[in-house]
Amino acid sequence: MINIPSNIINGQAVKGAETPFTVIDPATGEGFAECSATSRAQLDEAVAAATEAFKTWQHTPDAELQAILHKIADKIEANAAELAEIVVREQGKPMALAQMEVGGAVAWTRYAAEQEIPVKVIEDSPERLVELHRKPVGVVGSITPWNWPLMIAVWHVMPALRTGNTVVIKPSSMTPFNTLRLVELINEVVPAGVINSMSAERGIGSAMSGHPGINKIVFTGSTPTGQSIMRNAADNLKRLTLELGGNDAGIVLEDADLDKLAPAIFQTSFLNMGQTCAALKRLYVHESQYDELCQRLSGIAQEQKVGGGLEEGVTFGPVQNKDQLELVKELVEDARNQGANILCGGEQLPGAGYFYPPTIVAGVDNSARIVQEEQFGPVLPVVKYSDLDEAIAMANATDVGLGGSVWGSDIERARKVASQLECGTTWINNHAEVLPHCPFGGCKMSGFGVEFGEEGLLEYTQVQLLNISRG
Ligand code: NAD
Repeated sequence: MINIPSNIINGQAVKGAETPFTVIDPATGEGFAECSATSRAQLDEAVAAATEAFKTWQHTPDAELQAILHKIADKIEANAAELAEIVVREQGKPMALAQMEVGGAVAWTRYAAEQEIPVKVIEDSPERLVELHRKPVGVVGSITPWNWPLMIAVWHVMPALRTGNTVVIKPSSMTPFNTLRLVELINEVVPAGVINSMSAERGIGSAMSGHPGINKIVFTGSTPTGQSIMRNAADNLKRLTLELGGNDAGIVLEDADLDKLAPAIFQTSFLNMGQTCAALKRLYVHESQYDELCQRLSGIAQEQKVGGGLEEGVTFGPVQNKDQLELVKELVEDARNQGANILCGGEQLPGAGYFYPPTIVAGVDNSARIVQEEQFGPVLPVVKYSDLDEAIAMANATDVGLGGSVWGSDIERARKVASQLECGTTWINNHAEVLPHCPFGGCKMSGFGVEFGEEGLLEYTQVQLLNISRG
């Protein structure tokens, strides 16, 4: 049994003013707890608290901000078991993966703590000294999705706090508790109002994106929601970082070493049951390797133990929610009806919960919906190609561009192919790897702005030029 955390506004635990909503455990399909729902008036209170706290928080000396972030990391570490259990209950992933998510949250927090905010000297001459400084933007609104809820909250919150901003965060209503608990823990370390939490089923995210007191929105989620946020944000010209959906392609070249690469292709496609923004979602395989690779992927899929995330030995959890499950089922059925060959999986498991085993779809045409749409679930469509230029064209023929990969032994050749992919990150012989020091973001309709590294940190700042005349 997990303890249900509270919303925090201005350092105080508050009860949501709206009717609570039910949070579902995807392993049972049943509600397991009620979450308090905050109102528009409470959003105003949270923004007012964050605005007030910003007046002093923005002047916190750098060394103090760094020490505070390390204290937050200590708190996450000390409460790791509880946070991991919350993630499993509401998100569904197997415990080992939830523990990795909590470990990642600690690592990313410590990385942000150690980051430096640069001052760039633009001119140092007898006439003048010109320096480019970075200042916080003010109140940051963070809106997060349900797939890696704790990790993504940390990705938003830590660089915001590190650069002297204050925060109002709203998690997905499907996975709210990990974030509410995180905000409780952070409030044990920071002054009142520095970070505040909202939770509601609908409306609050939209109210945040239009709120005149919020200066920036950092959003991770689907492209249509990102578009809505961008429209709402126009009124007070909010700064935006939009990490949106993708439909990442991987291209397997003739010389790929399948002994080595097949397990990595499987792992990076089905990470978090495929519910990862930059998971490999469409695979283009040269005809000389096609049958062999499909068989190997199907073999690995069938070795997975599918079950509830709290069960011993489970390697593959449920789909997080019913809508996502229904979309996956619909897209696989569509491919089946068009004559695709479902090598394994392909049916929801009987019984309670949203279980759908890892599914490899072979013999599928590039035009099928399962290839063209972001299925965001445990399915990998594998498309055969004979001409490399054609494979590159198919990989690029989409309006999104988050990540892409090339798999082969000749690295120089793979590099040439990677350079032709239209996406924010290209991997060679890997996919879906994100690192705290490597900027990550999408192009085309996968959004703009980056997270991580110095570039990611600086998204939470605005520039101020200092020009000292020496004339
Ligand atoms: P979603 O867009 O439905 O919801 C994301 C968040 O936005 C939730 O908190 C939701 O309550 C809120 N929201 C919904 N409507 C809103 C509105 N009109 N205004 C403001 N906020 C609103 O996305 P999801 O289903 O939770 O997540 C899955 C999607 O997220 C996939 O498309 C996936 O690719 C994408 N994603 C992208 C990244 C990335 O880094 N690029 C990472 C993870 C997930």
